[in-house]
Amino acid sequence: MGLFGSVRDFFADISPTWLVMMFAGPYVAGETEDAALETARKLWEERKIWSTVDMLGESVKDPDICRAWADMYVSLQKKIAGIPSANVSLKPTALGLLISPDECTRNVEKVVKASKEMGRFVRIDMEDKTTTDYTLDLYRRLRDSGYDNVGTVVQAYLKRTYDDVARLIEEGYKPNLRICKGIYKADRDFRTMAEINDNFVRIAKLMAENGCYPALATHDINLIDRLKADVVDAFSLKPDDFEWQMLLGVPVEKKQKELLDIGHHCRIYIPFGKRRDAAAYCRRRFKENPKLFFFILHNIFSKR
Ligand SMILES: Cc1cc2nc3c(=O)[nH]c(=O)nc-3n(C[C@H](O)[C@H](O)[C@H](O)COP(=O)(O)OP(=O)(O)OC[C@H]3O[C@@H](n4cnc5c(N)ncnc54)[C@H](O)[C@@H]3O)c2cc1C
Repeated sequence: MGLFGSVRDFFADISPTWLVMMFAGPYVAGETEDAALETARKLWEERKIWSTVDMLGESVKDPDICRAWADMYVSLQKKIAGIPSANVSLKPTALGLLISPDECTRNVEKVVKASKEMGRFVRIDMEDKTTTDYTLDLYRRLRDSGYDNVGTVVQAYLKRTYDDVARLIEEGYKPNLRICKGIYKADRDFRTMAEINDNFVRIAKLMAENGCYPALATHDINLIDRLKADVVDAFSLKPDDFEWQMLLGVPVEKKQKELLDIGHHCRIYIPFGKRRDAAAYCRRRFKENPKLFFFILHNIFSKR
C-alpha cells in the first residue's frame, strides 16, 4: 500500500463514529430491526419498491455471536413476512466463515431452512475473493439439499465470474444471482470500468439467455440503460424474470421511477445496525473503496 493509502486508512480508523455517521447516515436505516422494517414498509407502501434487509456486521470470530446472528436473521424473516417480496441478505463472515466453513454452513442453512418454511428468500452476499469458492459451493450445497429459496451474488470485476456462472448453468442450477460490479477494490481483475461494465452485460446476457433470474445491482445510469436495451428488451424479459437492485440512500429516484413506471421491479438493499457496527462497516467499505467518499459528496449535491 502506498503512502496515500496508509494516510487514508489512518484517517478512516481515527475518525470518530459521529463523523463517519454524518456521511454514512443516509445509507443505513437505523440501529434497530424496527427501523429497517419501517423503511422497508414505507418503500413498499409509498413506491411499491421491494427490499432486502441486511444486519450490519462481518468478520465475526465468536461462534456464539454467529449463532445468535443466525437466530436474529430467522426472527427478521418472520417480522418482514407482512411486507410483500421483502427478503434478507447475509454475509458468510458474519455467520462464521472465519471460524470454519462448517460453522458458517450450519448457520446459513439454519436461516435458509427456516426461511423456506416461511416461503421467504435468502440472498448470500459475496465478500472478498478469498470467499468466492466457498460461497459458490455453499450455494450449490444448499440447492442440492432442496432449498430453492436461496440466491447469491457474482462480481463483474472478477474475470472468473463469467465461467463461474456458465458452470452453475451447465450444472443445471438455473441460478438466481445478483450481479454487481464488486466493492473490494483490491480484488479487481479488469483495468478499466468499461471492461467491468462489458463483463457485467455479458454475464447478464448469459443468465437471460439461459432462463436464469438476474438481479441487476447498479446505480450506474449508463449501465442501467445498456442492460435495459441489450438484456431486458433484447431477450424480451418479463418483469417477473429479473429485478433491479440499488442501495438505500443512493439518490437514483428518478431512474427508479422510470423503471417502476414501465412495470419493472426495483429492490433496495437496507442495512441496519448499531452505530458502532455501522461506522465500522462504513470505515471498512471506505478503505476498500475510497471512491465512496466522492460518491457521497457528489450525491449530496446532485439528484438523478
Ligand atoms: C443492492 C446491492 C447489493 C450489493 N451487494 C454486493 C455484494 O454482495 N458484494 C460486493 O462486492 N458488492 C456489492 N455491491 C456493491 C457493488 O459491487 C458496487 O460496488 C456498488 O454498487 C457501486 O457500483 P455501481 O454499479 O453503482 O457503479 P459505479 O460506477 O461504482 O457507481 C455509479 C454511480 O452510483 C453512485 N454510487 C455508487 N455506489 C455508491 C455508494 N455506495 N454510495 C453513494 N453513491 C454511490 C455514484 O454516484 C456513482 O457515480 C452491491 C450493490 C448493490 C446496489
